Amino acid sequence: AREWHLKARPNGWPVPADVALVEAPVRAAEPGEIVVRNAYLSVDPYMRGRMNDVKSYTPPFQLDQPMDGGAVGYVVASAAEGFEVGDAVLHFGGWREYATVKAAQAVKVDGSRAPLSYYLGVLGMPGLTAYAGLLKVGAMQPGDRVFVSGAAGAVGSLVGQIAKLKGASLVVGSAGSAEKVAKLVDEFGFDAGFNYKDAPVAEQLAKAAPEGIDLYFDNVGGDHLEAAISALGVHGRAVLCGAIAQYNDTQAPAAPRNLALAIGKRLRLEGMLVGDHAAMQSEFVAEMAGWLKSGELAYEETVVEGIEHTMDAFLGLLHGGNTGKMVVRLEG
Ligand code: NDP
Repeated sequence: AREWHLKARPNGWPVPADVALVEAPVRAAEPGEIVVRNAYLSVDPYMRGRMNDVKSYTPPFQLDQPMDGGAVGYVVASAAEGFEVGDAVLHFGGWREYATVKAAQAVKVDGSRAPLSYYLGVLGMPGLTAYAGLLKVGAMQPGDRVFVSGAAGAVGSLVGQIAKLKGASLVVGSAGSAEKVAKLVDEFGFDAGFNYKDAPVAEQLAKAAPEGIDLYFDNVGGDHLEAAISALGVHGRAVLCGAIAQYNDTQAPAAPRNLALAIGKRLRLEGMLVGDHAAMQSEFVAEMAGWLKSGELAYEETVVEGIEHTMDAFLGLLHGGNTGKMVVRLEG
């Protein structure tokens, strides 16, 4: 079966030659393990950081070893109690066709409740990031004016919609194309959106939220964060979720330059990691699944076909080729 190996650590933007699709035997399940035939692989921005050899909240990928990440698939062999051939599972043996994983690190998912790929997105890690980040870390209150960057992506499109469902008085999003901005308003129900490539973020944000904002959900960093710091009112909050504008930078970012404004405005800027919020999992799934079922929540995916295009999907994600969650669908 085929699996992706990291061959070289990128300097700046990754290139296709940094990885290779390698043929390798599928290891049989030892006691407590299952073998999974993957149906969908997740590609996520944090994987860029794992290509660097730096200590972070997730360990780096090792050279000439299979990369990993979120995946969903079907059990094809089981040496673990409670797991049967045919069960659908969410696990971390991504970037490969077949994965032999500890059953204790796999979660059974219900493919009749939602399409399997949804467990990599709206009902999975990005969904929980949006839900916990906005409601717990950001402590969003009804009436809040909310700005979210990366708004047409997996996390951002959910943040904006959850904010509306929870009574935000204004939801503004930024994204990187006119089509995406149209979608923010027409499909995801944002009040306003702008293309950050059209004009300075601060200028466009001031137009979209002339009275300022109460809460900023940051997926991008840099000039987006700087613009938000200026737009936030007294006691405003920013959830620092991601800084994708700088993941491929080889130099320190130039912005934000206005951090000292946080003093007078008594801002709270708080970093978040989704892994800290497992306690919200059941509340999150119940509420999100309810909104999906009632049609109140729109969910979009960009699906790339075939294991051989996983790196294309990952690079596409970094370049903004996705609307909603980027996933790779495997044959079979
Ligand atoms: P997305 O689906 O949002 O995909 C990434 C998007 O980033 C692209 O579609 C692109 O959209 C945008 N982008 C790329 N480069 C830039 C740039 N220079 N400036 C502005 N936007 C850019 O990914 P996710 O929803 O999975 O992740 C969103 C963010 O959340 C990331 O920063 C990620 O690291 C972070 N994250 C953090 C977690 C945590 O626990 N802290 C957990 C999960 C995600 P466009 O066309 O609009 O440019």
